[in-house]
Amino acid sequence: MGKALIIGCGGVGSVAVHKCCQNSAVFNELCIASRTESKCIALKNKLAGGKTKITTAQIDADNVPALVSLIRKEEPDVVLNLALPYQDLNIMEACLQTRTNYVDTANYEPEDQAKFEYKYQWAYKKRFEDAGITALLGSGFDPGVTGVFSAYALKHQFDEINQIDILDCNAGDHGYAFATNFNPEINIREVSANGSYWNEGHWIETKPMEIFRTYNFPEVGDKKMFLLHHEELESLAIHIPGIQRIRFFMTFGESYLTHLRCLQDVGMTSIEPILFVGKELVPLQFLTAVLPDPASLGPRTKGKTNIGCIFTGKKEGKAKTYYLYNICDHQKCYQEVGSQAVSYTTGVPAMIGAMMLMTGKWDKPGVYNVEEFDPDPYMDALNEWGLPWQESFHPDLVD
Ligand code: NDP
Repeated sequence: MGKALIIGCGGVGSVAVHKCCQNSAVFNELCIASRTESKCIALKNKLAGGKTKITTAQIDADNVPALVSLIRKEEPDVVLNLALPYQDLNIMEACLQTRTNYVDTANYEPEDQAKFEYKYQWAYKKRFEDAGITALLGSGFDPGVTGVFSAYALKHQFDEINQIDILDCNAGDHGYAFATNFNPEINIREVSANGSYWNEGHWIETKPMEIFRTYNFPEVGDKKMFLLHHEELESLAIHIPGIQRIRFFMTFGESYLTHLRCLQDVGMTSIEPILFVGKELVPLQFLTAVLPDPASLGPRTKGKTNIGCIFTGKKEGKAKTYYLYNICDHQKCYQEVGSQAVSYTTGVPAMIGAMMLMTGKWDKPGVYNVEEFDPDPYMDALNEWGLPWQESFHPDLVD
């Protein structure tokens, strides 16, 4: 069918490449490009002999002219951005200049300010419309599948959704005292920021980790979870009509929290540059360099993830609750693609998002979040490509 250019060859990129190769009827050709080309070459060698033709390239995605040259050379149908959120705008700019469709999994965040917001990418809407190309924002799990779940619930289960609680539980154990399951710098920026949730048309801000609950997750059991600000709250607050409250909770273990508190207390999570032996150094970037690479956690991580959304609202005048979730087993993911479930649950939807654009199932020029499209083909693809979903009509609610 066509060709994708995948930028970024870390934990998520590696899973997306594996899944594109499994789906060779759609992805005939792939170019894997990243800052360190040797990682792309190693992955290409691992997957050699399959039906998808793979090439590799070195790219600095902070350099727009270099991105434009690469896209012109490779002529992909879609660019799948699996580098870091800092690169989003540069890659979107290069897609505009080459009139190429764009997909990512995380919204733009300025490097010197730990605050991700969609406003930077939404500002590109008119230019993408005029160019006749699509930017699909946030096609990971959360954001991503959680938005598709919301669109699906609204289409099939409710006349009106009033509340959404997004629950992200990782009950996996990698055996390290402290490690993050996706890029450490992005992960620590996210969890050490203030929390917030949408309530009756306003944002309510909380201190980091101030609000917590214990929830009994299907197939996982009781886990303590903390309210965080998260990307999809911003887009769902706009795209789900009549919504009154949306919250996002993520589970953390005691060891993770104790280490994070200590690292914060000694200044290791700061993004303010300091002078160290005559050189400028950002403490969080140094910490990232010494922590385990998330891509290396696959063989060690055991247990399950359970990520989903609890909806409350109305159907035919009656109050209704509905829970849609996916359970993923770290070791099964590792056996299939050599990665743990956090990379897997992001890389699979990234492939599906690219597939939606390549196959024309989602076809609308402009800049969109996943919940703005018909959820049905995406929901079918989740079942087909490794993230089957389950539903419950009588879930426990979060108070
Ligand atoms: P990794 O750090 O493992 O991988 C990032 C990759 O991007 C690395 O290969 C890195 O290259 C490459 N890269 C970084 N900067 C550049 C650059 N300037 N030019 C070219 N390549 C670059 O991160 P993850 O795979 O864990 O995460 C990837 C993305 O997925 C992140 O944006 C993250 O926020 C997002 N994510 C989204 C989730 C969701 O559910 N929506 C969940 C988890 C992650 P090098 O190897 O040289 O360092």
